Amino acid sequence: MKNDLFPKDIQADIIPQPSGKLLYRCLECSAEFGIEQLLYTCPDCGQVLLIHDKNFNRLKAVPAEKWQRIFDFRKMTRLPALKGIYRYHEFIGSVLPLSSIIYLGEGHTPMIAANKNLEKMVGLPFFYKNDGQNPSASFKDRGMASAMSYINYLIQTGQVSDVLAICASTGDTSAAAALYAAYMHPRVKSAVILPHKKVTPQQLSQPLGSGASVFEIPGVFDDCMKVVESLSENYSVALLNSKNAWRILGQESYSYEIAQEFDYKLGDTVIVVPIGNAGNITAVINGFLKWYEVGIIDNLPKIIGVQSVHADPVYRYYLEPDTTKRKFKPVTVQPSVAQAAMIGNPVSMPRVVHLVDRYNETAGRQKIFFVAVSEQSIMDWELRANRNGHIACTHGGETLSGLVEAKARGYVHGNEIAVIDSTAHALKFSGFQQMYFENSFPAEYQVSPNPDLINRPQYIQPKDLKKVPEPGKSIDPEAFDLFIQRVSQEIATTLKLQPK
Ligand SMILES: *Cc1c(COP(=O)(O)O)cnc(C)c1O
Ligand SMILES: [Zn+2]
Repeated sequence: MKNDLFPKDIQADIIPQPSGKLLYRCLECSAEFGIEQLLYTCPDCGQVLLIHDKNFNRLKAVPAEKWQRIFDFRKMTRLPALKGIYRYHEFIGSVLPLSSIIYLGEGHTPMIAANKNLEKMVGLPFFYKNDGQNPSASFKDRGMASAMSYINYLIQTGQVSDVLAICASTGDTSAAAALYAAYMHPRVKSAVILPHKKVTPQQLSQPLGSGASVFEIPGVFDDCMKVVESLSENYSVALLNSKNAWRILGQESYSYEIAQEFDYKLGDTVIVVPIGNAGNITAVINGFLKWYEVGIIDNLPKIIGVQSVHADPVYRYYLEPDTTKRKFKPVTVQPSVAQAAMIGNPVSMPRVVHLVDRYNETAGRQKIFFVAVSEQSIMDWELRANRNGHIACTHGGETLSGLVEAKARGYVHGNEIAVIDSTAHALKFSGFQQMYFENSFPAEYQVSPNPDLINRPQYIQPKDLKKVPEPGKSIDPEAFDLFIQRVSQEIATTLKLQPK
């Protein structure tokens, strides 16, 4: 829509100008640092950082109803810069001019209501938010669009020249980083560090296809992360893991989208997210908190964080009810089908600890809960979801399984509405589905297929037929007719079809 057609009172707000004063703020010692430099941890105390808007109060001066209208009308702009996560520009990298924004189609992923059949199995209505429908097929694109737009801004303003972007990954961060870096080629190049054999073939194909330098090392994600930290401490590189606070900022868009989708009313809403490195849950909590503080939403939704029992350090931390006695202990991870969340020592744990307390305090009661689920239930629920029309990945199975667990524990009730995150596309993790269908899971996964959920192709080739079609070889028309007839017959018999 053309700008002069927007309502007069918000015309000037539809296309945002750079605003605010963003700083890195240390969660431990509250020290603040300018954003002209790429900074990942506090130079004073070593703790992780979050980006804070020093002029955040200006956002509170705008009435909530006006914000809502701005975001609702902004949906109609044709400007690519405002079509993705920067629809919420004032809350996501507000200092960036629109000309710095990289938009590759991320954000505004669909929310798909569960059908009655699935709703009945789970015990409450819910939506899948399909973050697998982002450009590199996972939610990581949200944070990457933010981090890369910021790097683009630094390049455009001459603050940095050529950038080598690096990350450790369980697969999806590297896919996203390599994609956005490829778009900024040749000013930005990327290198990714992956745990050997611990990313799926589909995930591995992504950074390779985008032209990144791909390194595989022995070990798991936590080991890759240490290498990347060592590189970023000693060399001039841009770190793109969620340790980078710009990633968190972009991922907050997930919360804003849900709020907007529910018309800014979140009273009965439950948000369910999987936890790996804990960047995502950090962003989801922070996003809702910011909008609550400004008044755009007048309720904080419940949040359920889900982990597999094979990688559950966050869940274990919160098992201790006495807040003064809680002590974080990293765990050694076991193989998990929720492979992108197979992390024993989450980098964002200090952020989670800080924000969970703030969230519950602000809400006046406990609104964030953690559950752990078995590998078996993750697979079973993923398959059940997809048999009811979804495209959930294993982590989508994890969130659904987590929702069922949260209901069983009384954290969630039948009169609420849940939004559960399918963080990636089913196809990225289809190898686990195949192992399930073929009953070929290695023992350490502890998954044995439920026969009702198995599905396999049936090969139809009538044994007595000598001549069957083959690529590049024609067969005579009579043999071909016979082939079609016999194959059709066999399929009809198998499906118990009635003749017309
Ligand atoms: C990265 C990732 C997660 C875990 O998110 P964190 O921010 O690391 O907690 C979950 N699912 C998928 C598909 C991912 O790529
Ligand atoms: Zn500090």
